[in-house]
Amino acid sequence: MTRKTVLSILLGLCIFVYPPTIALSKTVKVQDNIYTVVQGEGVDSNTTFIISRDGVVVIDTRTTPEEARKAMAELRKLTDKPVLYTINTHYHGDHTFGNQVFSENSKTIIAHENVRNMLQGQNGQDHLAMFKTFGLTGLEEVKIILPTMVYKNRMDIYPGGYHLQLLHLGKGHTDGDTVIYLEELKLVITGDLVFAETIPYVSDGYIDSWIESLQTLHGYDIEIVVPGHGEVGGKTSLIAMKHYLLRLRLLVKKQISDGTSLEDTIKSVSKVLRSEYSTWKNQERIESTVDRAFMEYSFRN
Ligand SMILES: [Zn+2]
Repeated sequence: MTRKTVLSILLGLCIFVYPPTIALSKTVKVQDNIYTVVQGEGVDSNTTFIISRDGVVVIDTRTTPEEARKAMAELRKLTDKPVLYTINTHYHGDHTFGNQVFSENSKTIIAHENVRNMLQGQNGQDHLAMFKTFGLTGLEEVKIILPTMVYKNRMDIYPGGYHLQLLHLGKGHTDGDTVIYLEELKLVITGDLVFAETIPYVSDGYIDSWIESLQTLHGYDIEIVVPGHGEVGGKTSLIAMKHYLLRLRLLVKKQISDGTSLEDTIKSVSKVLRSEYSTWKNQERIESTVDRAFMEYSFRN
């Protein structure tokens, strides 16, 4: 097993295992006809429903079919309308492994083209195998369902009365991120480009271009931010995420220019970030963010 594999498994444990207190999921009304299921039991990735005149758009499908069925039950409390489309904001299993539940309603699953690549064939099986090392229940039931419709830079869809801009702003949390922007409502569903009040998972990420994507989003007319993890909030959550990444970059680059080793950089930078971001969830993930930043910037310098 390579160092990278060991690291990704360890990091994975940090990402997906939720603190010991069981957080019950709650369905938050974001706007009229738009709801987000926040803090599923066991895993905290968010699922959003846009209930249009003609049917429902589902954004992200949770970690297991069982979790997805719970989200579907929440949807059925709100409407009987059919699911028109499911959108995966990126390929990570906590956003895609419930696809099979929603595709029973509609086969149309939309994502960036790299999501399909990352879930296809051996790539998808490897990703599922990694999740199975996290000790979560219900993964044995997962059948990887690929996006059936992909795009490269931008896709516009118009489900009954809404206009959804699906935008790939560049590499960020992964190389296949989608944000969904509803311009008229000043609302953005960011996927994992934003972790609200939560240390981000960056091990698949590209920190420089992630910062750029957030900078681009910052320029949009936005009042409501639905993050990939954490509470629905305002633009401050987007700004806070950008600041975390900027701070991480600055601190790590300084260590690299001073010739500090990876090990010492992880120690010193993590200490600073832990004190500055002590109120954020998933503190145990800080070291991995430093590790990833060191890798990104040491290759360039
Ligand atoms: Zn993710």
